[in-house]
Amino acid sequence: MTPLAPAAPLPDLRRLCVHTITTKPWAIETAAARFAAAGVAGITVWRDTLAGRDVALTGRLLRDYGLAIVSLCRGGFFPGASAAERAKAIDDNRRAIAEAHALGAPLVVLVCGAVPGQPLAESRRQILDGIAAVLPECRAAGVKLAIEPLHPMYADSRSAVNTLAQANDLVEQLASPQVGVAVDVYHLWWDPALQSEIARCGRLGALLAYHVCDWRTPTVDLLNDRGLMGEGCIPLRQIRAWVEATGFQGWNEVEVFSTRLWATDQDDYLRKIVQAYRDHV
Ligand code: ZN
Repeated sequence: MTPLAPAAPLPDLRRLCVHTITTKPWAIETAAARFAAAGVAGITVWRDTLAGRDVALTGRLLRDYGLAIVSLCRGGFFPGASAAERAKAIDDNRRAIAEAHALGAPLVVLVCGAVPGQPLAESRRQILDGIAAVLPECRAAGVKLAIEPLHPMYADSRSAVNTLAQANDLVEQLASPQVGVAVDVYHLWWDPALQSEIARCGRLGALLAYHVCDWRTPTVDLLNDRGLMGEGCIPLRQIRAWVEATGFQGWNEVEVFSTRLWATDQDDYLRKIVQAYRDHV
């Protein structure tokens, strides 16, 4: 690949989206009010925040705050040891698609799933079948699916899709305009093929979402010790340049799972998120 200079700093917050999981202690109503007040332009909604709520009304509330609803997290977990488990997973994905439609979210992000002890190639076949099974619902609802490759440390139980190449392969096999990819720097920053696979994803017209955070050294928890941008070693500006070289003009989504940061004052933390976005994304 031709070398590409890192991206320039982002001049404003118009492409900043924050995931509700990033400020997990806040109910979605609180998150919406605080995000809007801080100048955050988009919100990605995690399904747990919708529990006990009217989904359509919640969507209206978010839009009334001026927030764009970027995506719903998450569907997936297609592999199962039995046909009954796999059918149950497909049903849950149909519910996720219906929720996205009711919320007004154009995209459902997929954590594709894996079964400990089951060969990864078999899990990937089940993921392919599972996604194919829900495509009619996607088309009817006008909702797309983004396959999010996860770091290989999660290959046992969370995702058998661990590289962008594997996600691009699935996109090619499914050959549906409803299916694309979410590129998350936390999962993919280490991959020597990242630049070329981002370019391939762009050629496929499949780059649907871009998630940012940082990788801390040492990482003390496999799931809940992500860093805020600037706290770690991910070359964020370089990866954004590769993403934008495909023509991507979508959201920069801040998705941070962090027990450490959830324990801090969330208003103060949101100010730090906005500053980290300006300084490092
Ligand atoms: Zn992500």
